[in-house]
Amino acid sequence: MSRWPKTLAVMLLTLVPLCAVAEAHRQARPQMGTMVEIVVWSDDAGAADKAIQAAFNEIERLEKLLSEWIPGSQISNINKHGAARPVAVGAEVLTVLQHGLEIGKASTGAFDVSWAAMRGLWKFDKDTPRLPDKAAVAAAAALVDHRLITVNEAARTVRLGKRGMAIGLGAIAKGYAVDRAAALLHARGFKDVLVNGGGDVMARGSKAGTPWRIGVQHPRAKHGELLAVVALKDESLVTSGDYERFMVIDGQRYHHILNPRTGMPARGAMSVSVIAPTAMDADALSTAAFVMGPKDGLAFLEKRPGVEGLIVDSAGKIHMTSGAAKRISLRVQEVSP
Ligand code: ADP
Ligand code: MG
Repeated sequence: MSRWPKTLAVMLLTLVPLCAVAEAHRQARPQMGTMVEIVVWSDDAGAADKAIQAAFNEIERLEKLLSEWIPGSQISNINKHGAARPVAVGAEVLTVLQHGLEIGKASTGAFDVSWAAMRGLWKFDKDTPRLPDKAAVAAAAALVDHRLITVNEAARTVRLGKRGMAIGLGAIAKGYAVDRAAALLHARGFKDVLVNGGGDVMARGSKAGTPWRIGVQHPRAKHGELLAVVALKDESLVTSGDYERFMVIDGQRYHHILNPRTGMPARGAMSVSVIAPTAMDADALSTAAFVMGPKDGLAFLEKRPGVEGLIVDSAGKIHMTSGAAKRISLRVQEVSP
């Protein structure tokens, strides 16, 4: 055998580390009831993969802390004992809860972390969909009131005002976890990263020098078909839709974003997308605006600095905040319901 190929191989081996080029390192994992995807733009594959694993672990840690569905989480602990006595919580739970309470106040209760008194009433994953009992919905909705949650910041405790009340952070905790995962990657030296928790996106830095471009799912077309595309840099984009978890009974769609006043699925919109500086904010604000409906929801988003939004109302008409048109490129001009 000639010695040439071997020399070439040695040459290539020594050259590879020298001219390693930046590329996208991508991994996905089922977490937080959805599929989380992390992309890191880097020339160091080994370090990128390690950091991505650490980011997934961080999301897992936060889910165990913040989920109202995991027995033993700090939130479950509040739900179990909080009506009887103040319950001690950690700093992160306090941060997310207080942010949720702030959005609850700003949205005059359209967004309400105490929605969870109604959890379990609506079941969207059953083979034979059934509406919940009307009286049970009314009774549970009567227990939803974020103003009856008392946070003692100094003592780091949380108390629930009424027996039967419960906290659920499903509309905000995913955003927080996505923020923390992106921050972890950033702290490890990866400046160009994308974390997508099933539509809760945080984009930091850029992809090969150009902004990350994120597609918004069309609310009535098949998965992967786009309503719009948004360019993001150090920003979050989150969409809340009536097409994620729903059932249809007698031609009427029932979904998982509930109006706290009625206990019924909110009726004004098909989907709401929000651009905000953090995913925690974008997550909570998209749910809040969804419940408020196109008119009040749009005015609500318009008031908040650094926030833009796109609302598809229940008739399929598209509404945008004043700064959104130059940020969001629409793929369709309207949606047929
Ligand atoms: P997704 O979970 O599909 O990303 P959202 O962020 O809009 O969508 O959150 C919907 C979830 O938020 C529900 O599954 C429930 O856990 C919770 N939720 C439902 N209605 C409300 C509400 N009015 N205020 C706060 N949280 C809510
Ligand atoms: Mg949300």
